[in-house]
Amino acid sequence: MTKDSMLIAGNWKMNGLSAALAELQAIAAGLPAACAQADIAALVCLPASLLSRGAEAVRNSRLALGGQDCHFADSGAHTGDIAAPMLKDAGASYVIVGHSERRADHCETDELIHRKAEAAWRAGLVAVLCVGETLEQREQGAALEIVGRQCEAAIPAGAAADRLVIAYEPVWAIGTGKVPTRDNVAEMHNFIRQKLHRRFGEMGEKIRLLYGGSVKPDNAAALLSVPHVHGALIGGASLNHKDFLAIIAAAATLP
Ligand code: PEP
Repeated sequence: MTKDSMLIAGNWKMNGLSAALAELQAIAAGLPAACAQADIAALVCLPASLLSRGAEAVRNSRLALGGQDCHFADSGAHTGDIAAPMLKDAGASYVIVGHSERRADHCETDELIHRKAEAAWRAGLVAVLCVGETLEQREQGAALEIVGRQCEAAIPAGAAADRLVIAYEPVWAIGTGKVPTRDNVAEMHNFIRQKLHRRFGEMGEKIRLLYGGSVKPDNAAALLSVPHVHGALIGGASLNHKDFLAIIAAAATLP
């Protein structure tokens, strides 16, 4: 894969009132210049409350929108939840499933995340499925084993490059300013790539692997140039259009 197939994805988490739509519009407006000649895909996963208006605000731009979670059912008696077809209807084309904050805050298991990814696919959404180890697990030397198990249990059969993106996000790097070494990222991405290849054959080679965890304009080029890294999932730095566009520009200048 080349830089042309990179995906730079923002995750606004539980941030953003109506006023933040101006920031979203600034991202959309800045994309052509930030991408230069590169065909980089850009995505912002919004709070569900902003999706419809966000879709209106960035209509006719190349910025894609996503949700941050979906229920495994397509509709029904699940108060407070949101279904994948609702996200699609509101303007999303992607949805994050299995983010570590949902695993921690809502006790989400790999089996549940598996069902959510299938729900995303039924609705015609691309699932951005997150995996990653805690600091304790890394210090115990169990990072590969943990992520391997997450991949096996959470990724459904039928995975394909046009409907699945995997985001490797070490839990200890999210929102902390700490980042793994390039070697650690390379080792993990190579490991996930081998796993995907073994399970899905040639298609497994084409599924995008994102790195996520404290990606900022000043470390983006170093992280994005690691082999088998095809983009980034970005929390904090996606809330500010200048930082997010600077990360996209860094991706666009990679050889
Ligand atoms: C995230 O929310 O997935 C994330 C990686 O956050 P941050 O970039 O703030 O570490």
